[in-house]
Amino acid sequence: MTLSKSQYIRGLQCHKSLWLYKNKPELRDTPDSAQESLFNTGYQVGDLAKNLFPKGVEIEFDASNFNGMIQKTEEFIANDTKVIYEATFKENDIFAMADILVKNGDAWNIYEVKGSTSVKEYHLNDAAIQWYALSNAIKINRTYIVHINNSYVREGELDIKELFTIEDVTDEVLIRQDDIPLYLSQMDEILQGNMPDIDIGTHCSDPHGCDFWDYCWKHIPRPSVFNLYRMWGSKKFELYYKGIVSYDDIINNNIPLNDTQKLQVEAYQSGTVTINKPIIKEFLDEIQYPINFFDFETFQNAIPRFENQRPYGQIPFQYSLHILHKDGTLEHKEFLGDENSDPRLALIEQMLSDITPIGSIVAYNQSFEIGRIKDLASFAPEYEQELLAFNERFLDLIVPFRQKGYYHPDFNGSFSIKAVLPAMFPGNDELNYKKLGSVQNGGDAMDTFANLHLLKDKSKRDEIRKDLLAYCHLDTLAMVRILEKLYEIAG
Ligand code: SF4
Repeated sequence: MTLSKSQYIRGLQCHKSLWLYKNKPELRDTPDSAQESLFNTGYQVGDLAKNLFPKGVEIEFDASNFNGMIQKTEEFIANDTKVIYEATFKENDIFAMADILVKNGDAWNIYEVKGSTSVKEYHLNDAAIQWYALSNAIKINRTYIVHINNSYVREGELDIKELFTIEDVTDEVLIRQDDIPLYLSQMDEILQGNMPDIDIGTHCSDPHGCDFWDYCWKHIPRPSVFNLYRMWGSKKFELYYKGIVSYDDIINNNIPLNDTQKLQVEAYQSGTVTINKPIIKEFLDEIQYPINFFDFETFQNAIPRFENQRPYGQIPFQYSLHILHKDGTLEHKEFLGDENSDPRLALIEQMLSDITPIGSIVAYNQSFEIGRIKDLASFAPEYEQELLAFNERFLDLIVPFRQKGYYHPDFNGSFSIKAVLPAMFPGNDELNYKKLGSVQNGGDAMDTFANLHLLKDKSKRDEIRKDLLAYCHLDTLAMVRILEKLYEIAG
């Protein structure tokens, strides 16, 4: 049995996942855009980190000829090469590629590059299996994890020495060596037998969301105990393992629930909407015209592109603003930054002229918008006062829902706008995110804009920009319609 490093990590998380990966790969879930974006970030970060140890030689990836990659590595090592990128080995039944290998006297240092901002437990396991394999072929001195330093702020040229943090993990890696043979023999045994009988559990999402989710979770009804509002994952599994899975099971077993969970289960049973008018009225009483319905879209870069940008800092690049006046007139304003330059200053300036000087600013889950406005205020201190003054005027449209002023059985324990909107407006195409183009959620918007500058085809870029505008427009239109409905309900 030969395992790659990532298969070993998969096996540590769940033996069934490893078995399925080796025997039934067709059952894997299709990766979503967020996962693809994570992979792309990993490649970009890995490439950049090579500059920490310049003038190395690279083993080109060739999926059809791993032996050729291994042979090339051996040749470079024999020829006294000092730095090798993607050095490839098959030793001790492990196939491993070291991101950066650096000669240190008569031994080598290993540098594994990660796009995260800290060293995680699974990085240590990854470095440990790497050491286990490579130490069979070369003498190793130390092993390091290279990760992003999230306190770095770009000023001028990118400073890769500041952008990356290099942590020596040799001691943690050596501690793990003794256990590896046992883990490998367990995995070997598993792979020689039938699919292991492993039930779902917290291991399905720790440390990674498993990509056999749809296959393993297909017996879970909807709704189920896993949809209960704000219940700990461990508690949900405790109930599941006792056979309490559906809402009927919860009712029949008199499981103690908090108020929101109770409402969730009762609404499912009765199929009716629960309305508490005083809660809705209390919220509506605070609103002042003109009402500014406001929503940001943001993107993140692991590698800062712009001045005064931090790794993974949320940069607003777009907003949509619907303004509802007292006479019922509805106006729409919007901003979408140029993907080739820092959008923040232009966004701030337009925002200051678009948002009305008086009246409420309504957001859904306002802490996000308020947080981004604070970021913008520190980015552009010349506008700090005006920007922070906006934060005094926010009202959060999620509040009447969280306070149970209106509960629809189809919310299914979620008060996000993506759950609330279709439940309140079923069959309404104008308010259907699924009818939009390539951008249908905040994650799509974030990934799409972050990569838009890389797209050469202008017409394709224009098309995507239209999709971005349509998506953000719907976010604020949805708020307008929800608020109108609350007024209607409150009478
Ligand atoms: S979904 Fe859970 S049980 Fe199934 S293979 Fe993945 S981790 Fe294992």
